[in-house]
Amino acid sequence: MFSKVLIANRGEIALRILRACKELGIQTVAVHSTADANAMHVRLADESVCIGPPPARDSYLNIPQIMAACEITGADAVHPGYGFLSENARFAQILNEHKITFIGPSAHHIEIMGDKITAKKTAVELGIPVVPGSEGEVKTEAEAKVLAGKIGYPVLIKATAGGGGRGMKVAHTELDIGVALATARSEAKAAFGNDSVYIEKYLAKPRHIEVQVMGDGQGNAVHLGTRDCSLQRRHQKVWEEASAPSVPPEQREEIGEICAAAMRKLKYSGAGTIEFLYENGEFYFIEMNTRLQVEHPVTERITGIDIVYEQIRVASGEKLSIRQKDVQFYGHAIEVRINAEDPQTFTPSPGKISFYHPAGGVGVRVDSAVYQGYSIPPYYDSLIGKLIVYGRTRHECLQRLRRSIDEFVVDGVKTTLPLFQRLIREPDIIAGNYDIHWLEKYLGMK
Ligand code: ADP
Repeated sequence: MFSKVLIANRGEIALRILRACKELGIQTVAVHSTADANAMHVRLADESVCIGPPPARDSYLNIPQIMAACEITGADAVHPGYGFLSENARFAQILNEHKITFIGPSAHHIEIMGDKITAKKTAVELGIPVVPGSEGEVKTEAEAKVLAGKIGYPVLIKATAGGGGRGMKVAHTELDIGVALATARSEAKAAFGNDSVYIEKYLAKPRHIEVQVMGDGQGNAVHLGTRDCSLQRRHQKVWEEASAPSVPPEQREEIGEICAAAMRKLKYSGAGTIEFLYENGEFYFIEMNTRLQVEHPVTERITGIDIVYEQIRVASGEKLSIRQKDVQFYGHAIEVRINAEDPQTFTPSPGKISFYHPAGGVGVRVDSAVYQGYSIPPYYDSLIGKLIVYGRTRHECLQRLRRSIDEFVVDGVKTTLPLFQRLIREPDIIAGNYDIHWLEKYLGMK
């Protein structure tokens, strides 16, 4: 086992990782920007190193500074959390070269899944169902039109380097192809420095369903069931549930097993999420995230498995501690993301928290790094906490979620809590009747 882990992240996830390390008896190193000197993960870590000024590119994305922090503290492993360097194959490679373990999959697997065309090809080879579309990159308008005609309109032009929903354009008829292709390309070029695009069928009313997987790099892999993350705004998830309420249990088992088998074949190591769109009872792969996800606690809640603990274990060379037959699913869990944002306009609301009272009681977990008197810096994403609620049934879970949201107080800054107070009372939400467009329609964005 490792003796010292450096946590290359901030906020609630840095604290989440720190907690797993403490339970495993591993020393922790926090790194932080000058804006985060008073952060909770810095206070609770055994050691801390300041790695630069507030902008992320100078601190949390600054590989030389993080390598120096490893060197100074003698850390033997790095946990990247999510975001920042978590899907940076070069970072994983550099750590390897310095004999420091990257707590995550191999640089090769990060790379394959980081490029959408390669990811989709790999998914097909591994027997994962994908969205019908071009087999690889689409170069010319003429080629795009022929393909779109075969696939059937509407189609979606997507950037192979895409992320955060950028570089994606819908074409409803052949007349739209030229503009959609050019805009997707220029957006992708500006955002990712890579203008290569591909085409797939545009699904009209899908749900976003994902499967959590864990492998040990030695050919063992399990799935930990499904999550429904359809409630999104600008491709940002705001509410997540496990198990996916709209998928019948046998079908959850079936898609889970397809994913686990694929990860065994790939000899995948660590935690991963295979994301699908789900429409008319069919699954269509869209991408794989080769890291821990924000919404992992709902899966932990219904399986009783500590995903971060397993990540650390397998990275240290141990086998998975769980076999598929040991994985049982209990009840239902929902997570809502509490962001420091105006609940109507969604503009960030950094500043000082004057009063803080998290919800508690039966079935409630709060993952947050804020405290009363803490000042939320304006430089990073606005997630300040996650409220995760459990019930033996979805109904019980919703009842608890409603009272927990009403109980939660964050004063001094605006938060998304009032949005959740409304959502939890909406008939469609209570019925579990929503697709990936529901929230934007509800907010009047569509
Ligand atoms: P990104 O990496 O930018 O998040 P994804 O491939 O994960 O890109 O897609 C992001 C979102 O875009 C999905 O959650 C879904 O809402 C929408 N989307 C992607 N592909 C399709 C498709 N073929 N049809 C309809 N919507 C899609």
